[in-house]
Amino acid sequence: MNKEERQKRMRQLDEEIRVCVRCPLHESRTHAVPGEGPVPGQVFILGEAPGEQEDRKGRPFVGPSGMILGQLLEAAGLTREQVYITSCVKCRPPNNRTPHTNELDTCQENWLNRQLDLVDPKIVVLLGKVAMSQLLQEEGSLRLLHGRTIQRDGRQYLITYHPAAAFRVPETKLSMKRDMARLKQLLT
Ligand code: URA
Repeated sequence: MNKEERQKRMRQLDEEIRVCVRCPLHESRTHAVPGEGPVPGQVFILGEAPGEQEDRKGRPFVGPSGMILGQLLEAAGLTREQVYITSCVKCRPPNNRTPHTNELDTCQENWLNRQLDLVDPKIVVLLGKVAMSQLLQEEGSLRLLHGRTIQRDGRQYLITYHPAAAFRVPETKLSMKRDMARLKQLLT
């Protein structure tokens, strides 16, 4: 599929996501948050779920976690505009609770898998446990697994923490910076 066709299909997908009612999360959302970034693209960043700011604006990682993500990308010599960014579920869960399995699976089958196919990235960066568990069925500790790359079904995944963890434990940000240095290596 050529670049223009991929971009056209992604625009259609975004429109479908904005009106999605396939799981209960649509009931409490203000805006669904499809994703943004280059299509096709080298790097696909996957978070957990939109938060308050994202729900308000309909864009991924535009709140406090987004600010940290921007700094981390900078450490990898990348800008936000150079990476595709989305989350496992496209609608904010009530009170930012962890998405339920049925919500995660519905969103993956309908939207996330198609986003991955259209972006066709060299590396998928998994931010946090929910993203890691959803795409790799890996339930181990992030303390042990962060910074690792895993090949699965023709894709390469890099595991790291969710930027929100850097608020709770400041050393986490340092670990994430190292993981992002690994991302830089993988891209060269
Ligand atoms: N956290 C996420 O996982 N995704 C967002 O879009 C914002 C915060």
